[in-house]
Amino acid sequence: MHSMTAASPKPAAASVPQKALEKLGLKRDIDLALHLPLRYEDETRITRLRDARDGDHIQIEARVMESEVSYRPRKQLIVTVDDGTDTCTLRFFSFYPSQQKALAVGNRILARGEIKGGFLGRTMLHPSFRAAGGDLPTALTPIYPTVAGLPQPYLRKAVLGGLARAELSDTFAPGDLSQLDTHIGSHPLWTLRQALQFLHHPTPDVSLDTLQDHSHPAWQRLKAEELLAQQLSQLQSRRARAALRAPELRLPLPEPPDSLHQRLLAVLPFGLTNAQRRVGAEIANDMRRHTPMHRLLQGDVGAGKTVVAALAAAICMDTGWQCALMAPTEILAEQHFRKLLGWLEPLGITTAWLTGTQKAKERRAMLALIESGEAKLVVGTHAVIQEKVHFKNLALAVIDEQHRFGVAQRLALRGKLKHDAMEPHLLMMTATPIPRTLAMSYYADLDVSTLDELPPGRTPIVTKVVNEARRDEVIERIHAQIAQGRQVYWVCPLIEESEALDLSNATQTHAELAEALGDVKMPNGDMAQVGLLHSRMPPDEKKAVMAAFVQGHTAVLVSTTVIEVGVDVPNASLMVIEHAERFGLSQLHQLRGRVGRGAAASACVLLYSTGDAPRLGESARERLKAMVETNDGFEIARRDLEIRGPGEFLGARQSGEAMLRFANLATDTVLLDWARKEAPMLLDKHPALAEKHVQRWLGTKAEFLKA
Ligand code: ADP
Ligand code: MG
Repeated sequence: MHSMTAASPKPAAASVPQKALEKLGLKRDIDLALHLPLRYEDETRITRLRDARDGDHIQIEARVMESEVSYRPRKQLIVTVDDGTDTCTLRFFSFYPSQQKALAVGNRILARGEIKGGFLGRTMLHPSFRAAGGDLPTALTPIYPTVAGLPQPYLRKAVLGGLARAELSDTFAPGDLSQLDTHIGSHPLWTLRQALQFLHHPTPDVSLDTLQDHSHPAWQRLKAEELLAQQLSQLQSRRARAALRAPELRLPLPEPPDSLHQRLLAVLPFGLTNAQRRVGAEIANDMRRHTPMHRLLQGDVGAGKTVVAALAAAICMDTGWQCALMAPTEILAEQHFRKLLGWLEPLGITTAWLTGTQKAKERRAMLALIESGEAKLVVGTHAVIQEKVHFKNLALAVIDEQHRFGVAQRLALRGKLKHDAMEPHLLMMTATPIPRTLAMSYYADLDVSTLDELPPGRTPIVTKVVNEARRDEVIERIHAQIAQGRQVYWVCPLIEESEALDLSNATQTHAELAEALGDVKMPNGDMAQVGLLHSRMPPDEKKAVMAAFVQGHTAVLVSTTVIEVGVDVPNASLMVIEHAERFGLSQLHQLRGRVGRGAAASACVLLYSTGDAPRLGESARERLKAMVETNDGFEIARRDLEIRGPGEFLGARQSGEAMLRFANLATDTVLLDWARKEAPMLLDKHPALAEKHVQRWLGTKAEFLKA
């Protein structure tokens, strides 16, 4: 059935738009065959209006009784139809004259859509329709995920073509199918070909529910396939890494007291926490080996990851090798640079600094320092992995806030920093912890260290959710903080006024606060200054604004989310987040982590606005509630996962590259267990099948998943 609504044009003779297909990642026949429907529409049967319930998606066959265009409250086509059991009103807010003609009084039509039983009778909004007559289809109509410019009929044609041409022989090990059978309780297990045929053309007798919730045996087979591919690719990369060489960074034991590592420990203004010591030992242990370290250091905001990285760097430099530290933003890189410089320069270490906005002359000087090996430590942004940078002998690369880097950038780092066929050790740090089961399944090729203890003497941050209507009280509170010599962050979601969203504008808030706080004195007698930081400012200006805040010259920093990652100003004790309802949970937690870094009691105010709605939406409420209830990053991560589901949760940090399309790690645990056991067996006993399986499922994405 070719529907005639404005949304779906008639398929032309022209071939399927290749560009749009590529946008969906559909290049090979197998990619098309594995592009599975999001849902199905049932055009195989006709429901009598009398039998339809409110909210049902149904198809009716009926005669047009009335058809008129109304202009109030806006232009719409209103068509009344009668199927002999009841009547129904079809409403169209956009329509072509040809459609109006097709809906002329007296015509018999088939219409398909959601039925709503209103006070004024039943209605369907923008149903698909066509003239009645001809045969009904015998299969459900699949609706595929698509992009703009690729209407369903074209995509369907391309997918079915791919399915017909694709090579679909089984890649599961012959004897092991029965094992999976018992796992998922379906006898006999569907073959891949059967499962795909079915999912692209399900017979009408199937329960739509089992298709929708992916519990149908055909879906089970597909999910098992997908999970196996993912486990295989991780196993392959783990084994590939085990075959790589890395420099062995060994300090003699016991460590000489004049080692940089020991001297750094001695000059630190604090003692390490037990967690820092334990994690430091795990890292040192990895770096002593001749296979490259691939370790994720996760620790809540403020847990003290920087010093752990600095100590690892010290060991690396002690053994005569270079070390690089890369951060996602210039502000953060600069802050690391200063901190490390403060610790290491007095100990005689030369550090180089690299960013994309550096002046050419300075940059050349830095590149020379790096190439000659004079600079033992290199700190910077993405600039560190650019082509022109040649290290003399890089042995350790530290990536801060790793989830902010794209997978491609991480690959580039590993690819380009090779030295004498050796790979550098890799330490990735994140303040957005991944729940353990997810880490194990997604990062099978990553060892995880966890800082589960905060440095002593921190007072927990008190979080309050406050309605925007009480903004004045919040500003009063800022007065009090400033008078006590404390500093305040005020975070806004966007830089420019967007009419559609009506978000408050950082510039406007800055002006408002400067006005409201203009006459407040800081304890040193200076008048309070309000700074403004946003992502469109030139880097020099950003640096100056940040420096003024770090040095305590500005009392309040109004900022867009550029301050999100890693900024460390211990004297800041109040964080106000405007339009908190628009932020994700992890992001809120990261922002909150900017305060509570000193000994003073700190607070976080989440200002929210419901706009025109009477109250906040469900998920926004859940997020704000979680923020009030816990300060623990791991608990936040768990709740975030619960609110968003694993696909989206991880999707965000995998630069949009959805890793699992069909399986759900939280609910498909039985299949995941099977895939975990099956992957090593298949790889050892049937390596050709294993390779074929990975290529089939991941194709060019296989490299990405290994990063
Ligand atoms: P994050 O893990 O968020 O990157 P940082 O490394 O920025 O945290 O550390 C936060 C603050 O805690 C810094 O000011 C740092 O110097 C301080 N710090 C780190 N370790 C300790 C410790 N063991 N005792 C006291 N303060 C510490
Ligand atoms: Mg940090």
